[in-house]
Amino acid sequence: MTTETAPPRMRIVRHPLRYRLLEVRRVHRVTPGTVRVTFAGPALEGFCEQAPTDHVKLCFPEPGAELPVEPVVENDTWMDAPVEPITRDYTIRHYRRDVQELDIDMVLHGTGVGSGWAAAARPGMRLGVFGPRGSEEIPFVHDWYLLAAEETALPALARWLEMLPAGVRVIAFAEVPGPADEQVVETATDLTLTWLHRGDAAPGSTDLLERAVRAAELPEGTGFAWIAGEANTLRPIRRHLRNERGLTKDQVDVDGYWKRGVANHDHHEDEHTDHA
Ligand SMILES: Cc1cc2nc3c(=O)[nH]c(=O)nc-3n(C[C@H](O)[C@H](O)[C@H](O)COP(=O)(O)OP(=O)(O)OC[C@H]3O[C@@H](n4cnc5c(N)ncnc54)[C@H](O)[C@@H]3O)c2cc1C
Repeated sequence: MTTETAPPRMRIVRHPLRYRLLEVRRVHRVTPGTVRVTFAGPALEGFCEQAPTDHVKLCFPEPGAELPVEPVVENDTWMDAPVEPITRDYTIRHYRRDVQELDIDMVLHGTGVGSGWAAAARPGMRLGVFGPRGSEEIPFVHDWYLLAAEETALPALARWLEMLPAGVRVIAFAEVPGPADEQVVETATDLTLTWLHRGDAAPGSTDLLERAVRAAELPEGTGFAWIAGEANTLRPIRRHLRNERGLTKDQVDVDGYWKRGVANHDHHEDEHTDHA
């Protein structure tokens, strides 16, 4: 008799919650619409990162202030306080422990404290980095991976491609405005990456990723799908993967990184409202 064992589930590894005030060492335009900000400083001592989707909360100064408000942490818990920092979530693109440098790729989308700060970022400016709180450790046991993202999730997509085991089959889709926004990503995986150009359409307004995922030919065996981008555009993709492709809850991680018309979208909100 053969018994089928389910692949091990994702687990969250908690890290000690720390706030660090870091200085910008370098600013580099990765593409016309994305700025790579390299933060540095001895405060990076003890910084942890280990999974593709690891992210931090950047803490921005109030308008007119030079430094951000520091979050209050007691017993490893972020406490309510009379004045809270202005925060936004950003992926850890690279952490170089040997030189204590942290790269964050920030999309210049126009309005918003994060986008505005990134457009003005210069060496010597300081910013708060809070976290990472934890890492979503997804066991790399699957036969294939389906990855899809738009610009805000390209840093995480790139981390997936760098961390997945050599030779594993990966089908990936990346939506960007045009050819100039494509990026070169190092990977040892067996990758088919398709860039999707939305042209003049507004970010978060197209169904390019949905159509690509629907049309994708998925290999035999067990797979895992990770999709991130604008929250509303992802809902039909999550439903398609669960209901039409038959992937289980543990095989699908769909994360709304931002939502059109909403400042500081809470990405955990989607987990509670959309269990397709
Ligand atoms: C886990 C996680 C990781 C993330 N990693 C990254 C990352 O590495 N790099 C990155 O750039 N972003 C990343 N994001 C997305 C980022 O947090 C949001 O885009 C955030 O809203 C940016 O803050 P803001 O202050 O610029 O805009 P907000 O003040 O939050 O929003 C202002 C307005 O801009 C709109 N808006 C927000 N983002 C965009 C966008 N990309 N394009 C068009 N309109 C937008 C909002 O709908 C709102 O109307 C991540 C989000 C999550 C949850």
